[in-house]
Amino acid sequence: LKLGDVLVQEKLITEEMLQQALTMQRTHRKQALGEILIEMGVVDTEVIQSMLARKLGIPFVNATKFRIDPQTFGLVSIRFIEKYSILPLYRANNTLVVAMENPLVWEPLNELRVITSLNVVPVLASRDAILRVIKELSRANEITGKQKIGDLARTMNMDVVDDAPEDSIAETDNTLVGVVNKMILDAYNQGVSDIHLETYPGKRNTLVRFRKDGVMKKYFEFPPKFRSALVSRIKIMARLDISEKRRPQDGKIEIKLSADNKLELRVATVPTAHGLEDVVMRVLACAQPVALDKVGLPANVLERIKVLAQKPYGLFLLCGPTGSGKTTTLHSVLSFINSPERKIWTAEDPIEITQDGLRQVQVNANIGWTFAAAMRSFLRADPDVIMVGEMRDIETAQIAIQASLTGHMVFSTLHTNSAAESMVRLLDLGMDPFNFSDALVGILAQRLTRRYCKSCKTSYIPSRDELLSLVEEYCAGTPLDSAAVMQAWHQTYRNQDGGFTLYAAGGCELCEGTGYKGRMGVYEFLEATPPIKSLIQHQASVVELQATAIKQGMRTLKQSGIELVLQGHTNIEQIRSVCN
Ligand SMILES: [Zn+2]
Repeated sequence: LKLGDVLVQEKLITEEMLQQALTMQRTHRKQALGEILIEMGVVDTEVIQSMLARKLGIPFVNATKFRIDPQTFGLVSIRFIEKYSILPLYRANNTLVVAMENPLVWEPLNELRVITSLNVVPVLASRDAILRVIKELSRANEITGKQKIGDLARTMNMDVVDDAPEDSIAETDNTLVGVVNKMILDAYNQGVSDIHLETYPGKRNTLVRFRKDGVMKKYFEFPPKFRSALVSRIKIMARLDISEKRRPQDGKIEIKLSADNKLELRVATVPTAHGLEDVVMRVLACAQPVALDKVGLPANVLERIKVLAQKPYGLFLLCGPTGSGKTTTLHSVLSFINSPERKIWTAEDPIEITQDGLRQVQVNANIGWTFAAAMRSFLRADPDVIMVGEMRDIETAQIAIQASLTGHMVFSTLHTNSAAESMVRLLDLGMDPFNFSDALVGILAQRLTRRYCKSCKTSYIPSRDELLSLVEEYCAGTPLDSAAVMQAWHQTYRNQDGGFTLYAAGGCELCEGTGYKGRMGVYEFLEATPPIKSLIQHQASVVELQATAIKQGMRTLKQSGIELVLQGHTNIEQIRSVCN
């Protein structure tokens, strides 16, 4: 189906107009038919676009609403992008989706296929929106682009005279401002979670390290004369008192990346020896939630959580240490039940993930706006679902239980190690065992483990001893029979030769030689079934709760982790380091 035919069919132009346009196109080969028709004044851009969208099934998107990955944007030269007003939107495997005003112009699309060696799929967008996004992104690119932090630092006068004061650089120096911005944007673009600025006395360099996927790595070393200026610059950005160096301070920095994408950093300064200060910044990218199906829950757990999360009332808890990914999972669960029929209030500190539809509240203990205070306000504000970022104290926990017993679904997190331990901890805090057991729906414990880089992991056939030690570790402290478990593994994981295949870390360019890339969740889900509720009422021990849970099919964190090993995602050392 061709555009011209569609327009004639819809009686938007006459057959004569079409023929006239086609004749003109023969002499102006480069011009698209749509453009010629617009120039002839017989149709306008909107008509052509809505036709394309309706008749040819090409979706129309609002280009300004996309979070475009700088790497995707960087796939094509800015010259090409500007020449054709084509905007790379996102990349999924071998497919690159681009926004353009008229997707029927084949020339640039073909060229793009050649340049990127990707399958290029066009979508429609208004020219204005495309141009606006291109302008924003190319400006951001100028700062983050090819320039290395070292080059940037070198452009500053680095010839330090021996007796020059170490703070010879002013915190207002333009290049210093650029250096700090560059450092923050590098961290953001590399998916770093924390930036650590570590100062040393005398002639020693100031070290900047990034934490990514839970692992620290050196980013850059600044000469000593940068020391004070770097710290002061960050303090100014975070609106902290730059003269206060003996007490720790907290603040935040907000950086606008584009019209509706901002970056937030939580800044903490810590006074160290020799009257110096370290700065640690947590990068909050205002991320979107991950779909619940994509967080990597085992199929049976995913199924149960979907059912339980939709209950009209109850208490659902996620537990794990800081940085175990529980906030991400919690938001994925909320996104699953986030619908126009539900009123969802959340109290968070900080708000790391934003979702349309949720009413998200940033708590601030300094002004008395605590989790407990937010909960009480929510209860007066007609909620269906309430999420409390953390149950830090007995007061919050008690309100949460009251709320769930009075007909609301309540979600929260705890800093506990396992699902069973969470129950005992809450009872120890002074929860009423009967109210708590009535309210509780389930507890999901979580850890994050490093996963192998897919492009360089290597397979091997494990020895019998290695398998036996795995199965022993799997069954340790549980009522499970190791022979039966081994048989079940054999059913699920055996390879073509009837044996097992495990994987070891390699090392390649993609993973910077580490053998690992990204992290994945390890889960333990305990559903509050009648037997579990009865144990809670009798204030049973962690061991009793755990044993009953395993009997009803729960897999512990360690067991789920060992299954990830058998599936070839990681190794037992990584699992041991996160699940004790
Ligand atoms: Zn690799």
